[in-house]
Amino acid sequence: MTGDTGVAVALESRPDGVPAGTAAADLVATDLAGLRSFVERATGADVDRALRVARPTLQDFAALLSPVAGERVEDLARRSAELTLRRFGRTIHLFAPLYLSNECVSVCTYCGFSAGNEIARRTLSTTEVAAEARALTGRGFRHVLLVAGEHARIVSKDYLVDCVQALAPEVPSLSVEVQVWDTATYRRLVEAGCDGLVVYQETYDRELYALVHTKGKKRNYEWRLGAPDRGAAAGMRRLGLGALLGLHPDWRTEALAVAAHARALVRRWWRCEVSVSLPRLRPAAGVVVPAHPVDDRSFVQLLCALRILLPDLGLVLSTREPPALRDALLGLGVTHLSAGSSTEPGGYAASGAAEPQFEVADTRDAAEVAGVVRAAGLDPVWKDWQRS
Ligand code: SF4
Repeated sequence: MTGDTGVAVALESRPDGVPAGTAAADLVATDLAGLRSFVERATGADVDRALRVARPTLQDFAALLSPVAGERVEDLARRSAELTLRRFGRTIHLFAPLYLSNECVSVCTYCGFSAGNEIARRTLSTTEVAAEARALTGRGFRHVLLVAGEHARIVSKDYLVDCVQALAPEVPSLSVEVQVWDTATYRRLVEAGCDGLVVYQETYDRELYALVHTKGKKRNYEWRLGAPDRGAAAGMRRLGLGALLGLHPDWRTEALAVAAHARALVRRWWRCEVSVSLPRLRPAAGVVVPAHPVDDRSFVQLLCALRILLPDLGLVLSTREPPALRDALLGLGVTHLSAGSSTEPGGYAASGAAEPQFEVADTRDAAEVAGVVRAAGLDPVWKDWQRS
């Protein structure tokens, strides 16, 4: 198989590692420990350089994560806002998640859908999925993210392809955030009308990954890490990645890995739009509090640093974040907002029949969020893609 880079890659052939010639391999080869130690050594001059250079390196990014840069978040925000305006104009893309199913056979310690949790489970029929999509398009959405738990029989490849096929005539842009699949399955989804793949690694720390993913296919770290490469090879046009902030005791360690992975994907799959989301853990069934909460100032520092490293990167902010923070970040670097979200299967047409994945912090509806975006001098964008 040959990627966009022209490098021969064997995406399916090494279940115990990541295939050569992929962004996942580039990440594995990155000296993240060296970068983490530079974070502590970085000086004011290093931060100045990172804010000034046209093409920042990962070392510059490390300087922007440093405690020294933490004293200068306003400078980072100014640079981030300038780059965002230059690259994206005055626009914010709005999208909504559509939960297909909360069935899951995996156990992940941070998730309300985890197999051990005694919750009301539901999987939507394609008719119900179409009703949910109509509820969303009626509210203006033209970009929908299909989300499901990991249950290879109930949320099967065929089921997902059927859902995409059912929605494609009505919804111009469809992405999936479901269990990871092989390239052939991603190709089927693309052919059915799916254009985006979202795969959060959750944590890039292998030991922690093993601790929080105690049962199920999601335990395979490498297979998950290689999923964006497989999606891109299959023709996905948008790639989303991220980590769940609050799992790792050191947010800077996680940030370096996310940034290195995003940068590698941008380089390897330059035809794809790459975006990053860094949800902070929220309460959910079976999940009480985040183990290591990331404060607002650090969160803003991280988002601005990512923008400065990768000016073309989509930065996604979900309704896990409270309204005040979401509003304050408009214009500073964020490019994509979910809005009016329900994390319960069937929650748009009629809520209350199944357990949501987590509690939403911004409960404003889509029209209200669009109004706030306009009031900030930005244009809400509902649609930026039409499949041919
Ligand atoms: S994070 Fe995904 S795989 Fe893990 S329990 Fe939740 S839905 Fe299942």
